Amino acid sequence: MKGGHGPPGPGGGRHPPGIAREKSMRRSYCGLCEECPLGLGDFQEIVSRLREYVTRFRSNWWEHCFPKENGFSFVEFRKALDWFLARQDCPGCQGGRGFPDCPIRVCAMERHLAGCYQCDDLEACDKFEHLLVEFPDVKVKLRRRQIKYRAQLHHQRLASGKKVT
Ligand code: SF4
Ligand code: SF4
Repeated sequence: MKGGHGPPGPGGGRHPPGIAREKSMRRSYCGLCEECPLGLGDFQEIVSRLREYVTRFRSNWWEHCFPKENGFSFVEFRKALDWFLARQDCPGCQGGRGFPDCPIRVCAMERHLAGCYQCDDLEACDKFEHLLVEFPDVKVKLRRRQIKYRAQLHHQRLASGKKVT
């Protein structure tokens, strides 16, 4: 399965060092949307400043210095920057974006789960194949989230005085 997850982000350390990263409000079943930088202030600021530089220095005029295979389309580059700036309000996978027929989404919805981190079959699940090439740690992150989630449930049960099994 291709497309649908263009902007880089999941992988943690791709944002420039020293720049704070606020938490995304987007929700997905696999956890990718929570880490997407699209719409985050630091990312948008960098794209916006780059666009400003590109415009101010009329970068399209440099195109003749690097003709043909040594260059690239500045017009398309500008379009890409505009694309990022115009999509700050992406609602994420649980808001309707993403692959419509994503096997992860379909499965998690059928099981009435808020995310795969709530699923007892996560470890053995083979529905992540289409993501693992680009995001090899997607399941590892979900497993970490699952541990926290289970610990929370455990403490809630203790607090409510229910018997813990
Ligand atoms: S559509 Fe599928 S792969 Fe995309 S964010 Fe949602 S669960 Fe993840
Ligand atoms: S089996 Fe569980 S982990 Fe796998 S896609 Fe379905 S809900 Fe997610």
